[in-house]
Amino acid sequence: MILLNNQFVSRDEGKVDIEDRGYQFGDGVYEVIRVYNGKLFSLAEHLERFKRSMVAISLKLPYASETLTDNLKTLVEKNNLRNGIIYIQITRGAASRNHGFPNNTTPVISAYTKEISRPIEALNSGISAHLVEDFRWLRCDIKSLNLLGNVLAKQEALDHGCQEAIFHRGERVTEGSSTNVFIIRAGKLLTHPADNFILNGITRRYVIELACQLGLPVIEKSFTLNELLTADEVFVTSTTQEVMPVVKINQSTIAEGRVGKWTQLLQNAFESAITSP
Ligand code: PLP
Repeated sequence: MILLNNQFVSRDEGKVDIEDRGYQFGDGVYEVIRVYNGKLFSLAEHLERFKRSMVAISLKLPYASETLTDNLKTLVEKNNLRNGIIYIQITRGAASRNHGFPNNTTPVISAYTKEISRPIEALNSGISAHLVEDFRWLRCDIKSLNLLGNVLAKQEALDHGCQEAIFHRGERVTEGSSTNVFIIRAGKLLTHPADNFILNGITRRYVIELACQLGLPVIEKSFTLNELLTADEVFVTSTTQEVMPVVKINQSTIAEGRVGKWTQLLQNAFESAITSP
């Protein structure tokens, strides 16, 4: 089953108009929420960010947010999802194609679930990343449906045999194509501040809290390409990638190609959090 607006229908029944503004303009926002053991992880934080993204593009939920929360939980139950994700998006709806906001359209909400497992192998061995100039717009803090910049960067990384692209604006490292980037230098954790140049990841915030609990000082400050390439440890975070070690960036090997000590401690803390009842 999928959720379409306020109804549960089969995927075949779920129809969206060809002039939906999400389809034509990417005029909408989305969230990806992790489900561990049948439970939605950090649901409140995801819905809060969803609302923030909606406000940023002048969209309003067509029903109460409590209804949306109930609908998402029901969707997980109906689909017997144990481990996977919920994808949810809202668009400005269907209207005759014109750039300006149409009058009187009803936003279209759609959500579906997908089973996925944790990327255990990569979490243990780490991934390689490829550097890409950040050619995206200046509102990367909005979780917008417009992901072409991210798509092109990820493909460039894949074409180079890497699993993630790390963006930089000139010398300054911003984030990954679908992750936030962290480095460890001299016993401190550094990550780009949550401004308009990055998406403030739910996993990013979670990991910052875990680091504080572990006594690892956190500095939310941007760092340079050179600081990235000569870091003691590098990892990226996201809802599906969790705390993912990066062991190679372009031609530079990081942490002798192994999962670093702090990265491992953060991975352990994260794993405890998602497996606790
Ligand atoms: N940055 C970008 C550009 C993303 O697309 C994502 C997730 O898709 C993230 C960061 C990580 O966000 P989260 O931890 O909320 O999944």
